[in-house]
Amino acid sequence: MSKEKTSKPELALTTLIQYIKGVGPKLAELFNRRYIFSVEDLLRYYPRIYEDRRSNRLISELEPNQLVSLRVSIKSTHSMMLGRSGRKLYEVVLADKSGQISCKFFRVPYKGYFERFKPHTVIQVIGKPIIYRGRLEFHHPELKDIDPDESNSDQLIPIYTEIENITTAKIRNLIQLILQELPETAWIESLSTEILTEFSLAPLKQAFFEIHCPPLDVSRALMDFRSPAQRRFIFEEFFFFELLMAESHYNFKQLSQALVHQVDAQFWSQLKPKLPFELTGAQQRVLAEIFSDMQLAQPMNRLIQGDVGSGKTMVAFIAALLAHLNGHQVALMAPTEILAEQHYKNAMQFFKHYQIEVYLLTGSTTASERNELLLKMQQPQPFLLIGTHALIEDPVQFYSLSLVIIDEQHRFGVKQRAKLKQKGQDPHFLIMTATPIPRTLALTVYGDLDVSVIDELPKGRSPIMTKVSSEAKRSSLYQFIHEQLEQGRQAYFVYPLIEESEKIELKNATEEHQKLVTQFAKFKVGLLHGRMKPAEKEQVMQSFRNQEYHILVSTTVIEVGVDVANATIMVIEHAERFGLSQLHQLRGRVGRGSHKSYCVLMPGYALSEEGKYRLSVMESTTDGFKVSEADLELRGPGEFLGAKQSGDMGFILANLNRDADILVQARELAFKLIKQDPQLSAPNLTGLKNKFQAEKKKRGQYRTG
Ligand code: ADP
Ligand code: MG
Repeated sequence: MSKEKTSKPELALTTLIQYIKGVGPKLAELFNRRYIFSVEDLLRYYPRIYEDRRSNRLISELEPNQLVSLRVSIKSTHSMMLGRSGRKLYEVVLADKSGQISCKFFRVPYKGYFERFKPHTVIQVIGKPIIYRGRLEFHHPELKDIDPDESNSDQLIPIYTEIENITTAKIRNLIQLILQELPETAWIESLSTEILTEFSLAPLKQAFFEIHCPPLDVSRALMDFRSPAQRRFIFEEFFFFELLMAESHYNFKQLSQALVHQVDAQFWSQLKPKLPFELTGAQQRVLAEIFSDMQLAQPMNRLIQGDVGSGKTMVAFIAALLAHLNGHQVALMAPTEILAEQHYKNAMQFFKHYQIEVYLLTGSTTASERNELLLKMQQPQPFLLIGTHALIEDPVQFYSLSLVIIDEQHRFGVKQRAKLKQKGQDPHFLIMTATPIPRTLALTVYGDLDVSVIDELPKGRSPIMTKVSSEAKRSSLYQFIHEQLEQGRQAYFVYPLIEESEKIELKNATEEHQKLVTQFAKFKVGLLHGRMKPAEKEQVMQSFRNQEYHILVSTTVIEVGVDVANATIMVIEHAERFGLSQLHQLRGRVGRGSHKSYCVLMPGYALSEEGKYRLSVMESTTDGFKVSEADLELRGPGEFLGAKQSGDMGFILANLNRDADILVQARELAFKLIKQDPQLSAPNLTGLKNKFQAEKKKRGQYRTG
């Protein structure tokens, strides 16, 4: 009896880390700071890579883009200045008996970092060699002292990311200890046998053993993150995330009641002759998807992804037309007043054949106009209301709002979407974004949305020619612009937001404007910047549209959606300061008409190797999806999406770039399960359901639409 009382409780996955032998309060505190609280959390602190000690890999055998860890000796270290920028490039040359390889650092990890490396010492290098200018080299690899705790035996050694002064060997030993001590009953499986079998995933216990004590025969698969153990954990991470998405999608669809639209048999035949052009195949396909959604009482929650200029607006207008012909009201929300005004003008043009009322509501609308609008909205009258945030900030109420269109969704937060939803009784949502993101990311970020892609540009567009220029070529560039302006074309000059200061930004744009006024004395040069009042901005845009200005000097306020078909040249100053996706957005302001268009990227002096590469991506493709893939590749999903957003997803082992195939499988399964069994009440799903509940709790309130 007393024996039972004094014996230690059995180790479980939920046991807190400080109760593990050898983990005192200090160590526990360090782990806790990394969100490692329980035994399971520690087991899920997966090795980052395995050091293959069997093969004694050599530098001469390295292949590009493969993550490796190898032991080498330091040959030399030195630094050099990069151009006139005053920035330094550090180089560490490593060698073994087979050859040597250079490691380049464009920034210093921390002060004194390079002083640590004395020639002839043996260190460990971890990283992915890449081919740069025809040579294999490392950029920003990890260089580590050899851990004296490590024996040098013939095996695959898991390497863990060190946590302050907890070495990888210490972490490894703790994990090994846990694996030995956990009793058989501790391994509570969350995935059903059917799922494990169908997707060839390792069961929980086996998976943990395999990932922390890998058998030699899985080494190849391990390096590729495709061993059954890794696949299991990757799948699991995606799967529980996607279950959340599936549930949210299900709730949105099932628990809401939207207005049903009828599609008249004559709809298309009547529409066609009134269109100014023929719809592209992609536009037709996407419209078919939208229409089939709008015919249901379940609200549509659809995202249209399409590159700049792919004709999303027209698609949205036609959806609005359907709502209107069904006697309902439509709201279209744009991120800026300039865009709202532009949509308003286009809508007036498009809808004039239909006697459809189109209204504009922005921050500039006068109080009396607004009051008049508010009254109209409550009448049983169909209309299209276009506006900015003012649409949701006002106490706007609608009589029968059946469709909400949101343009350029990345500027709108989840909260605003939710707020708009309250304005009507569960309207259908159509969200347009010109930030093409790779499909895998779309599946996660917009996880609870249905996604349609317009992957075709209207006919007759000649692709934009993009060139990286230099100060030396500036005068010939101006010569070229002169010629284009002479031919009746127009040009943009864009300046970045410098040092996050509107004041400096304004100063730069204003000064450059002055210079260009002198340079292009024969022509009219307009100026647009963020400090202007919306009405002033609109005035300038309008003048540019009417060709009263030949050149428009602008800060990035020009970025989204502005449409002036006659503008064929865009010069982007300090182009290296923009992200790739933003450059692509900017570039999309030209190439909107039938004239050949040009985008000139003018770098500042301080162009790093990385910067050069980024600009070269812009030269090499005009396909927004390719640009965003490169952007994702360069920045990783964390920065690409904003750290907050990707952190919310809670992926540890799973990688959106590498594991796209597994993500798709996990998503399909999650949506299928929720559809068949929304409560996950089938007996073989008990483990899964419990884990799902726990995950939801852990994530707190992960909120989507
Ligand atoms: P997005 O919003 O996707 O960037 P827009 O809807 O602004 O693109 O369309 C860009 C330009 O192409 C507009 O001037 C529009 O009138 C025109 N356009 C749209 N669809 C077509 C089409 N099918 N054929 C020809 N021109 C089109
Ligand atoms: Mg647009």
